[in-house]
Amino acid sequence: MSEKWGNGTICVQGGYTPKKGEPRVLPLYQSTTYKYDTADDLAALFNLEAEGHIYSRISNPTVAAFEEKMNQLEGGVGAVATASGQAAIMLAILNICQVGDHILCAATVYGGTYNLFAVSLKKLGIEVTFFDPELPAADILKLAKPNTKVLYGETIGNPGLNILDFAVCKEVATELSVPFIVDNTLATPCLCKPFEHGANIIVHSTTKYADGHATSLGGVVIDGGNFDWTNGDYLEFVEPDPSYHGVKYVEAFGAAAYIVKARVQLLRDYGNCMSPFNAFLSNIGLETLHLRMERHSNNALEIAKWLETNEHISWVNYPGLESSEQYERTTAYLGKGASGVLAFGVKGGFEAAKLFIEQLNVAALVTHVADARTCVIHPASTTHRQLSPDQQKAAGVTEDLIRLSVGIEDVGDIIADLQQALESGGE
Ligand SMILES: *Cc1c(COP(=O)(O)O)cnc(C)c1O
Repeated sequence: MSEKWGNGTICVQGGYTPKKGEPRVLPLYQSTTYKYDTADDLAALFNLEAEGHIYSRISNPTVAAFEEKMNQLEGGVGAVATASGQAAIMLAILNICQVGDHILCAATVYGGTYNLFAVSLKKLGIEVTFFDPELPAADILKLAKPNTKVLYGETIGNPGLNILDFAVCKEVATELSVPFIVDNTLATPCLCKPFEHGANIIVHSTTKYADGHATSLGGVVIDGGNFDWTNGDYLEFVEPDPSYHGVKYVEAFGAAAYIVKARVQLLRDYGNCMSPFNAFLSNIGLETLHLRMERHSNNALEIAKWLETNEHISWVNYPGLESSEQYERTTAYLGKGASGVLAFGVKGGFEAAKLFIEQLNVAALVTHVADARTCVIHPASTTHRQLSPDQQKAAGVTEDLIRLSVGIEDVGDIIADLQQALESGGE
């Protein structure tokens, strides 16, 4: 049924179908455990022969409904929700990689992902090579190694706002016979469906647009069910798992092998699960995702166009602008809108940018993006202040750069706020 539904219907009703007399609204099951009548009932669950909940570290009905809604939105074969976006990325990688393995990752990824890959995974013996995503496939392939196990990128890079060239990444992943993992956080499945462009696994920080109201940390890993784990390089999916009575994931679960293993092996062992309460709140957030993404995108485009003509602004970066060098890719992959995050430069540099932020009223200075409320940050004086000028440059952070996460307020009020701040703060 839901396979025929559009984004809006899935957002509102996907993942939970009440039976006669049951609550219309997805209930919050704030319970760690589940009652069974016989030892055999429970044994069948532990043997993975029957479906049901055992313990909320592994699954919970409220979390399961949220997972299923995200899964339907992306068009996957299954999903696992996690405590945060970082936890989702970690789970997605460790379900595949172990000591001695290598990952190819787009250099433009979110700072938290960059640190996780460059520092923490390195300590686990997993090596990551960062590549310039503007390179042609042949040049990216030159960075591959015999032990390369994953290709990783983001639909919309943060804070550079580059749109991933899915065609190039798909070509590289296919050539290497490795899974292509995409972080679709800033685009959301309402604007881009990475499985339709060659992704094999999708991760999200649901802390951002999915929740949308800045109440709940969360993440999710979604399996496209479209990668061949039996190609000889991913033995954990085909050989018996000694921690699960020798289950062979591909043999037992077919196209869902990846996501079943992520849950029953890794979520069980690492415990990086989403809390039922966060799933409950995030599910309410998802009910309006389709409306919010339309509004975020429309507001951001209108503001980007207004900024382009403003005398206090030296440059504007928004992938939805026709003047953007990303525009062709934006129309190819994000036909319904380019999301709500944009960046621009204030004339007068560091001090003018700082002063500008301090004059804002509708837009609030916070370390967050993708909220219903408009958020703004001056990376050079805040998130990136510890970096040297060279490191800031490599991260795409200039002294005049303002990152604006456009909310869903009335666009006229956001523009009026920017205008008064530019007039009192800018050059
Ligand atoms: C915020 C973010 C993350 C990390 O998510 P948390 O929920 O903060 O752990 C990962 N990827 C992207 C693109 C993000 O914006």
